[in-house]
Amino acid sequence: MTTSLTQPAPADDEQGRLAALRQLEILDTEPEEPFENVVSLVRTVLGVPIATVTLVDEDRQWFKARRGLDVSETPRDVSFCTHAIRQSEPFLVSDAQVHPLFAENPLVLGEPGIRSYAGIPLQTAEGFNVGTLCAIDVQPREFTEAEVALLSNFARIVVNEFELRRIAQRDQLTGALTRRGFLEMARHEIGRFRRYGRPSCLLLVDIDFFKQVNDTYGHPAGDAALKALAETVTLAKRPVDLLGRLGGEEFAVLLPETEAPDAFWAAERFRQAIEDRVIELADGRTVAVTASFGIAPLTDTVTSVEDWLSRADEPLYAAKHAGRNRCVVGGSS
Ligand code: GH3
Ligand code: MG
Ligand code: MG
Repeated sequence: MTTSLTQPAPADDEQGRLAALRQLEILDTEPEEPFENVVSLVRTVLGVPIATVTLVDEDRQWFKARRGLDVSETPRDVSFCTHAIRQSEPFLVSDAQVHPLFAENPLVLGEPGIRSYAGIPLQTAEGFNVGTLCAIDVQPREFTEAEVALLSNFARIVVNEFELRRIAQRDQLTGALTRRGFLEMARHEIGRFRRYGRPSCLLLVDIDFFKQVNDTYGHPAGDAALKALAETVTLAKRPVDLLGRLGGEEFAVLLPETEAPDAFWAAERFRQAIEDRVIELADGRTVAVTASFGIAPLTDTVTSVEDWLSRADEPLYAAKHAGRNRCVVGGSS
């Protein structure tokens, strides 16, 4: 196999690699068409029973897309992909039963009975191998150069799709998650709550008298205020908190691992930071805005993301009604 035209060696920095993986905001998300298409194609074109888009997390491998496999993840220490991501070249195993690294591997000895493997590292623009595109057979097999080249092309498509989906999830003006991206993450959080019972809170944020900002200073000034608000909250929030722009001048913040009293104080910090922020306009004038917050803790009576949002909408309305520039926690029933 020639490897001269492949990418440079992957960056040897596990913390950086995990950070790059987190930045993709893709772990534990629902199946998506582009990745489904790629694994279907790999299976058909290479004639293998199993194909996966695998992401190698700290101590597990998780499948963004899979065909011919029943499990959604496996421990990292038994994975073939953890070896594949150490190099830039395709990682090929023609017979796992006689391979020193894999002869005793439970995925070889038991289900799904892996015998041969071709994994192409999925390398980000910064040079981190976040995972692999894999073709797996239950028979021994020498993957041909043409097959490996094909698989490598599909891997490039997968990496491009990672980037495209990340862009689609970010609002152009503010850099916050789009409504779609945010709702997906909130849905994921509800799933986590149902499985592990971890606390979580949702903040709805609406700028006060925003129409007046537009009317007085012009639409570009309104846009500058939206950008400033997103920047202010981004600086004030924890890295695990997620900011989304739900539409117009309405934002939301997801606070994982946070009980209602702490969420209230986080919201107060954001509110104060927004109030304190002086927004400089292109013509030299300055403007300031305030915002109102509705806070909804996640409880087992929350039936859907839409339900969770509406539970934050009620206290937001109360905050507006009580005079704006304040935070109100919703009932936790
Ligand atoms: P309240 O305190 O009750 O929230 O008053 P408000 O004026 O903020 O509320 P309202 O919903 O009446 O006005 C929202 C305004 O936000 C109306 C619209 O012109 C403006 N807006 C929505 N999206 C954008 C945007 O992308 N850029 C700018 N500049 N303005 C926007
Ligand atoms: Mg509004
Ligand atoms: Mg408003």
